[in-house]
Amino acid sequence: MSKVFHATSVGKVRKNNEDALIFIEPDTFVVADGMGGAAAGEIASRMLVETVEDFLPSVPKPWHEDILQKAILKANAAILRTARSNESYRGMGTTATILHLYDGRAYFAHVGDSRLYRLRNNLLEQITEDHSYVEDLVRRGRLTPEEARVHPLKNLLTQAVGVVEEITVDTASFSVAAGDIYLLCTDGLTNMVSDRAIAEILSRSASPVDELIDAALQNGGHDNISAIVVAV
Ligand code: CA
Repeated sequence: MSKVFHATSVGKVRKNNEDALIFIEPDTFVVADGMGGAAAGEIASRMLVETVEDFLPSVPKPWHEDILQKAILKANAAILRTARSNESYRGMGTTATILHLYDGRAYFAHVGDSRLYRLRNNLLEQITEDHSYVEDLVRRGRLTPEEARVHPLKNLLTQAVGVVEEITVDTASFSVAAGDIYLLCTDGLTNMVSDRAIAEILSRSASPVDELIDAALQNGGHDNISAIVVAV
C-alpha cells in the first residue's frame, strides 16, 4: 500500500490559484499549472485534470504511457477548442504531469515544467525534463543549472497543453522499488525550494507535502504551489 499526500496553496503573492491536481484513487496522480490572462489559466488546468479524470477510467488498466499520452492529447484538443471559441480564453494553456503506479511499474506522461521526482536510496532524481527555454539552454551547455534558476526567462515554456494542435508528450515507464517516494509538483515549489531541501524533507517527514509547501511559503511563495507525494 502506498501513502499519498497532496495539497495546493495559492501562495503569498497571487490572487488566484491556477494549479489543479487530482488523485484518481488508488494509483494515479495528476498536476497541472495553468497560464493565461484573467481566469483563463484556472480554466485550462481544470479542463486538463477533468479530461484526464473522465478518460482514464474508461480504459482498462494498466494505463500505459501511450494511454496517458492520449489523455493529454484529448485535453489539448478540448482546451484549444474552448480557447478558440472565447476571446477571453485565447492563448490559455497548462502543464500536465501524470503518474500511474500499477503492478510494480510506474508510467508517466508530461508536458511543460511541472515535475516528477523520485527519491530512491536517499537520492533525489528529476525524472521529467522541463519543456522550457532555459532548460533547452542547459541541455545545450549554454547555461548552468544555477544560472537557469535565476534567469529572467525561466518561466518561458517551449510547450504547453492547449496552445497549438501539435504537441510532443514525453512518456516513459520504469520499475518501482519498495521504499520509492514520488513527488509531482508545480514550479511554485521548485522555483522556491532547492532540490537538496526537497530531498531532505521527503526523506524524513511524516507530512511531506505540508512541509514542502511551508518551505515554499517561507521562501517567498511567489507563485501557486502544488505537490503530490506518494510513498510506496
Ligand atoms: Ca506556476
